Amino acid sequence: MNNGIVFDVGKLIASGEGVRDLYSFDIPLDFDDINMKSSVCGKAELMRIEEGVNARLTDVEMLIGGRCDKCLKKIDNKVNIDQMERQFFLHKPSYIENPNDTFFIDEKTFTIDLTEPLRQEIILHFPLVQVCSKSCKGICPICGKDRNKEECNCKPIKTEGNNPLAVLKNLIK
Ligand SMILES: [Zn+2]
Ligand SMILES: [Zn+2]
Repeated sequence: MNNGIVFDVGKLIASGEGVRDLYSFDIPLDFDDINMKSSVCGKAELMRIEEGVNARLTDVEMLIGGRCDKCLKKIDNKVNIDQMERQFFLHKPSYIENPNDTFFIDEKTFTIDLTEPLRQEIILHFPLVQVCSKSCKGICPICGKDRNKEECNCKPIKTEGNNPLAVLKNLIK
């Protein structure tokens, strides 16, 4: 993993509650489990709250590589996250029961790191259905030809609801 989405909150911590910092970002990110095809861009609003900093990211956009569910061609999916919000604490508040979901301000560098929460949001926002185009004809389940490139003479089979390509796709991965 390289740089990550990290913001310096030193000044913000020294200011009063309700003070905000606004940023635009465009940062290349690397994840082990996500095939990033572009940098991640978006806007960040950091606000001083009593316990630390509230970080709100909006209009986050990136391209992620995948495969068309129908013809298996490699494609880039545009992923948008309209809004995500996390609180970063200076100290562990007594009312928090599950510290695994809790984020902290780095006490040495006075920075917050949004890389891991962003990774989780990307996975939640990844399209369930990936297609290269709405008109993709897919691969013929009988002869295996890409019907976008070549017509075949096989009798069409309805594949909705039960996708014979699922097995083929798993083999190709
Ligand atoms: Zn396709
Ligand atoms: Zn065919």
